[in-house]
Amino acid sequence: MNAIIRLLALLALGVAPASAQEKVLNLYSARHYQTDEALYSNFTRQTGIRINRIEAKEDELLERIRNEGANSPADIFLTVDAARLAKADELGLFAPVKSKILEERIPASLRSPDWFAFSIRARVIIAKKDMVKPDEVQNYEDLAHPRLRGKVCSRSGSHPYNISLMAALIAHMGEAKAEEWARGVVANFARTPKGGDTDQIKSVAAGECGVAVSNSYYLARLLRSTKPEDQRLMERIAIIWPNQKSFGAHINISGGGMLKTAPNKDSAIRFLEYLAGDDAQRYFADGNNEWPAVASVVVKNPALDAMGKFKADNLPVATLAKNAAAAQRIYDRAGWK
Ligand code: FE
Repeated sequence: MNAIIRLLALLALGVAPASAQEKVLNLYSARHYQTDEALYSNFTRQTGIRINRIEAKEDELLERIRNEGANSPADIFLTVDAARLAKADELGLFAPVKSKILEERIPASLRSPDWFAFSIRARVIIAKKDMVKPDEVQNYEDLAHPRLRGKVCSRSGSHPYNISLMAALIAHMGEAKAEEWARGVVANFARTPKGGDTDQIKSVAAGECGVAVSNSYYLARLLRSTKPEDQRLMERIAIIWPNQKSFGAHINISGGGMLKTAPNKDSAIRFLEYLAGDDAQRYFADGNNEWPAVASVVVKNPALDAMGKFKADNLPVATLAKNAAAAQRIYDRAGWK
């Protein structure tokens, strides 16, 4: 019976069922970059496993997996941000994966028993050069300083990127101090939180606000852009690696795991191991201007090179996941909508 329901689910997705011998992998992915085509076709070439890809926005995919329940055809869930992986984990969607390859390749701070990071991004501070001196915003803590009254722009406090940042701050300064910080930042808002990271970058460049935070890849994307308007935008902005004299810049991840209900578990583990390989790491990271999770893999990315070296927070990403609920409560109490 289960097999029939699963078949119907696959057909509903427009996915052709596999013949008896053919090996397949059903990949639910929030990623859709040009380099991913090579990433997936190389896997099929190496393993003979065909990939059925379902691509949608991160939260939609999670909803879909939940709704499909025990009969979900999904083998792997790939998404971004530790807070989202934490949510999937909390819902009991992942199966633990034991793999020597993954344990050796992915640093312990970038995995949990249930999911693995495959690339890294940083959450950096940006400042409008002629409005806020970069010296004044060297640390996340500075965003709460009264001298920035009316100058801080932000996206929603409920967004996973900000949840994870708060989760890190909780780990470093404790809940009470973290809440005090959130209240200070809210008091400094130039406007009610809205938009995504790119909107904050544009608002800073336009002088609507003097400072904001953004994930590194949005900045790298603009730095690589050949459009004159993007280049002009980036000329007005200073990128600051936060907390270089203390705990380091907040790091988050793209990653994924095998689902508990995965019908093709062997293929799923092979795919996760493949993603930790040298070439796959390069494709995976470069596709979104991120850094590989495997430390020995080097990417040649002019925008990332231009942003320079930095000290990264080495807090285990599993800690971010653990603090996600407390982080949301703090934003709610502080009125960071
Ligand atoms: Fe993003």
